[in-house]
Amino acid sequence: MQLPDTAVLTKMIKQAVILLTSVLLVCPNPLQEDSKATQYLAKYGYLNTMDLTAGVKSFQKMSGLTETGSLDDDTVAQMGLPRCGANDIPEGITTNKKDVMRYAVIKYPESSLLSNDNIDNVILTAANLWKNDHVEIVKNLDDDHSNVIEIVFCDFTECLVGFSAENDMEELARPVDKDGKTTLYLDSAQSWADDSTLSQLSYGGVMHLQIQLLQVILHQFGHAMGLEHSDRMTSAMVPFYMEWVNGLQPDKEDFTMIVMSGQSRVRSACWQLFVLSFSVLVLTHAL
Ligand SMILES: [Zn+2]
Repeated sequence: MQLPDTAVLTKMIKQAVILLTSVLLVCPNPLQEDSKATQYLAKYGYLNTMDLTAGVKSFQKMSGLTETGSLDDDTVAQMGLPRCGANDIPEGITTNKKDVMRYAVIKYPESSLLSNDNIDNVILTAANLWKNDHVEIVKNLDDDHSNVIEIVFCDFTECLVGFSAENDMEELARPVDKDGKTTLYLDSAQSWADDSTLSQLSYGGVMHLQIQLLQVILHQFGHAMGLEHSDRMTSAMVPFYMEWVNGLQPDKEDFTMIVMSGQSRVRSACWQLFVLSFSVLVLTHAL
């Protein structure tokens, strides 16, 4: 076989370089996509006990997508949706803490379509939608610091530890448990809306930009009562923000989960009592 001369070879190399550069510019870098997706899955707890394929499948199940285990377009798109910042696969058991949970709004958004009264009404509606025989969410009318739930509208880059504007932008809200209290952080930069503001704005064709405060606060109250994320599309505990939902309410299983969460609280208290009694018994015999 006759080899091409140097000039032809140089030309061929140049063309190959141009071709390769064009391909790299046009095609997305799969490694980059993967690392972002992996970061997302790790953030929401999918990679704590599962490998990447199992984690992707679990995320697809939570999202109502086909469980392929591969990072297809639908799966990557799902990761861009606005959502709750709580883990999808939490570590340990979460339990509700009290039979009566008092809440207070600690900080309202500085600028919002909704007045503070509007916000109060939406929150009260959400609390009433969770009415059940086991746990009651009530507004704390006294300034006596007995709140179990505190609601804070704030700029996430300022009020959430470790929040990154680049990596955590999908978060609308995040529940944080500390010292027996749940603080529900809501991003003050969102266009929070209720039914009245929605109807005013729907004529302007911007309704899709509004975020239904009731949907988000209902979900966050669920966390405060010890509920975890659910893949049932009728549940109030779906982690992703859905389009505006009329007739919003928790489903039957959400209420069943509240009872179970309460039972595990009782079980945990009984277990602690047993350990204490046993320790006393051992000490008594030792003396
Ligand atoms: Zn959540």
